[in-house]
Amino acid sequence: MKKIIIAIDGYSSCGKSTMAKDLAKEINYIYVDTGAMYRAVTLYALRKSLFIDNQPNISALNGEIKNINISFSLNPQTGAPVTLLNGEDVENEIRGMEVSSYVSAIATIDFVRSFLVEQQQQMGKEKGLVMDGRDIGTVVFPKAELKIFVTASAKVRAQRRYDELKNKGVAADFNEILNNVQERDYIDSHREVAPLRKADDAIELDNTNLTLHEQKEWLLERYKDVIEKA
Ligand code: C5P
Repeated sequence: MKKIIIAIDGYSSCGKSTMAKDLAKEINYIYVDTGAMYRAVTLYALRKSLFIDNQPNISALNGEIKNINISFSLNPQTGAPVTLLNGEDVENEIRGMEVSSYVSAIATIDFVRSFLVEQQQQMGKEKGLVMDGRDIGTVVFPKAELKIFVTASAKVRAQRRYDELKNKGVAADFNEILNNVQERDYIDSHREVAPLRKADDAIELDNTNLTLHEQKEWLLERYKDVIEKA
C-alpha cells in the first residue's frame, strides 16, 4: 500500500501527540514528536546555563548546537516513544514546567529551527510517517498528503495537561499551566520564523468536546479518505 506523510499541527497541549501516536500505531507508521526535539534543545541550554535574564544566549547556543544529538527509542515496557538527548533518556525531564516555560523562546531562534527541520525532513524520506508540531504542514512537509490542524479551548487544554502531570505524580498548579499554555500560543503564533498557522490545505479539528476514542476514529477516517485516492 502507498505510504504517505501525515502532518499534525496545532496549539500546545491539545492532544496532538496522543492522536498522532495512536494513528501511527494503528497503521504501522513511524511517529515523530517534534515538540520533544525543541524541548530537548531547551533542556540542553538550561543545563549549560545558556540563558541571560531568562532569555536564550543566542551566540553561546549557536556555538553549542553542533554538540546536541537528539534521537528516539521505544520504552521496552510500555512501547512508548522515549526522547534521548546525547544518548540520555530525558523523556520525563523535558515535560516539566521548567522546560515548558523556556521552550517557546528557544523555538523562535532561526538556526535552532533549521537544525531541527533538516533532521525532521530526513526522517520523512521514506514516508510512512506521522509527525506532530507547529510547522509540519507549512514548513517541514508542505507537500504532506494529509494535514490536520488541531484546536481546543485554552482551559480544556490546561486541564488536560494538569491531569496528565497529576497522573504522573508531578506537582502541578492549574493557573500556572493555563498561563503557560496561553503564553506559548502567543509566542508560537507571533514569532517571525515559521509561526504556528493552519496550512491552507489542512483539515481543522476542534477537539474541545471529543473523547479520545472519537478523535482517534475521526483521524483514522481522514487517513482512509486520503489513502483510498492515493
Ligand atoms: O508540542 P509541544 O507542546 O511539546 O512543543 C513545545 C514547544 O516547542 C511549542 O510550544 C513550540 O514553541 C515549539 N515547537 C515548535 N515547532 C514544532 C514543535 C514544537 O516551535 N514543530
